[in-house]
Amino acid sequence: MRQFCVFGNPIAHSKSPLIHNFVFSSFSSQIGFEGFYGQYLLEDGEKLRQTFYQLELSGANITVPFKEYAYTQSDEVKGIGSRIGSVNTWVLEDNHRLIGYNTDAEGFYQTILDYNFQTALIIGAGGSAKAVAYILKEKGIKVCILNRSKNHLESFIQNGFECYLSDVFMPRAFDLVINATPAGLKDTGLPLQEMLLRQILLDAKMAYDLIYGISTPFLKLAKELNILSRDGKDMLIEQAALAFELFCKHKIPLESIRKQMKLIL
Ligand code: NDP
Repeated sequence: MRQFCVFGNPIAHSKSPLIHNFVFSSFSSQIGFEGFYGQYLLEDGEKLRQTFYQLELSGANITVPFKEYAYTQSDEVKGIGSRIGSVNTWVLEDNHRLIGYNTDAEGFYQTILDYNFQTALIIGAGGSAKAVAYILKEKGIKVCILNRSKNHLESFIQNGFECYLSDVFMPRAFDLVINATPAGLKDTGLPLQEMLLRQILLDAKMAYDLIYGISTPFLKLAKELNILSRDGKDMLIEQAALAFELFCKHKIPLESIRKQMKLIL
């Protein structure tokens, strides 16, 4: 039995064990091994890599707040993760080398493939905003970032993104407006001042909240304004499907993994 897990803090809410254990049991004969996927509440990000090896894992997912630790502790980072500086998937590859990937970015992009968006506004400048911003930019979509504080904006500015502090932003039209903040997750807050957000959403083709499982105030406002809206559930499935594809070394077509995951979530 090969062991996998998700590292995070907090971690009890994670749906990853449910999703991955379901697909491991569904596909064990095709992938040629049985897998078990657990969760691990990590206290100290510096101990991520050593914990991975102590637990004798074959692969893992890494969530808040350890994705940057996973990036720096990888032996090699492949794909867009190397440009973002953030890793959410580890796979033990040849000679026990720990290879890092970022499947959040491509996972998000998979969910908007059917739309021809040209411009996007991302509210928030944390880890998920970074993954979404980099993939949209690489796909030729013009990205603007808004954040409530300067804290996280510096690296976006250095990488050529158009960035503003929320309280000095002059509203304009964007095809896609993304809430990449936790506002509304455990409170009733909007990620931006309401008048400003209303003005922005009125011109949008889609309002996308990365939070999943609840109707956030952001999504409620979009619905009230009759704007097409989306929560983070599909992104969750897509990033997990891409991670599972890496865990099972591409032995199962992505479409089959995705289909199976949708049955359980
Ligand atoms: P981070 O903690 O890395 O970043 C949070 C960002 O939101 C920061 O820019 C922060 O601003 C800003 N922010 C925090 N609280 C508020 C608030 N009340 N109002 C306005 N801005 C705020 O978080 P992540 O990027 O990792 O995650 C953001 C959200 O995305 C989470 O809610 C998570 O659930 C969701 N997510 C969903 C995924 C999916 O698969 N669907 C995957 C990953 C994340 P400042 O810089 O000032 O601190």
